[in-house]
Amino acid sequence: MSNRLRGKTILITGASSGIGRSTAFEFARSCPEDLKLILTARRINSLKQIATDIIKEVGNGVKVLPVQLDVSDAEQIRGFVGNLPTEYKEVDVLVNNAGLVKGMAKAPDIAEEDMNITFATNVTGLINMTQAVLPIMLKRNKGNGAGDIINIGSIAGREGYVGGSIYCASKAAVRAFTDALRKELISTRIRVIGIDPGQVETEFSVVRFYGDKARADAVYAGVEPLTPEDVAEVIVFAVGRRENVVIADTLMFPNHQA
Ligand code: NDP
Repeated sequence: MSNRLRGKTILITGASSGIGRSTAFEFARSCPEDLKLILTARRINSLKQIATDIIKEVGNGVKVLPVQLDVSDAEQIRGFVGNLPTEYKEVDVLVNNAGLVKGMAKAPDIAEEDMNITFATNVTGLINMTQAVLPIMLKRNKGNGAGDIINIGSIAGREGYVGGSIYCASKAAVRAFTDALRKELISTRIRVIGIDPGQVETEFSVVRFYGDKARADAVYAGVEPLTPEDVAEVIVFAVGRRENVVIADTLMFPNHQA
């Protein structure tokens, strides 16, 4: 697998924690030589620490660029992609992972602000990132592997649950966008990969209940949640397949999750 990752430039959104952070480590471990990682999120200090930790673990063969970026801000996205340093400009892999959950309440009680930030981050942010990076991949649409776009959806995009309507709607939109994009790009060498995890224990698990740990733990009754590393392994596996293989649409959840 490492041969197929060699030399790639990989851009990850939401890399400051959870699945995004683990994905950065997993790419670096799978190809510790000649790989470039662009790690983005709002918490720049966490990104810098992750960059240091990756280099410490795998060595200087991997170059890491931490960048503060709020995906809900379209201007920031365009400015960031347009001004990437020369050695990071040729993005090969975009992992659209940044996401949040706000407004866990029944539909009549959802605050407008929570609704707006959920869609601005999970949906518009992901689409804006894709629009910004796609021209780079399309220009390179010859030879092997013009690019990979990995969109992190959720099982919540496939089925609704009580109190989760806004999050579920946002992830259903991600799924629909991913499916349409894959079809639009079918004649190109760009692969579009959708990964929908079930329960994964990350910061998200508690943040979604506004820090109520007991409520967060109750969700996992009888289930051992996935780790962020489990999801990272699937992302890196998908990217590492030979060019003709697209892991198009993956639903993964812990055993025993209903
Ligand atoms: P975390 O909360 O650990 O990670 C979320 C990441 O998204 C953080 O790095 C956060 O960084 C980033 N982020 C949030 N808002 C923004 C923003 N406006 N701009 C840039 N980055 C942002 O949770 P997970 O790792 O679990 O979540 C990653 C993805 O996986 C999300 O899309 C989530 O919906 C999805 N998912 C999670 C599941 C779970 O059970 N945990 C299940 C299914 C899907 P920062 O705060 O520094 O900006």
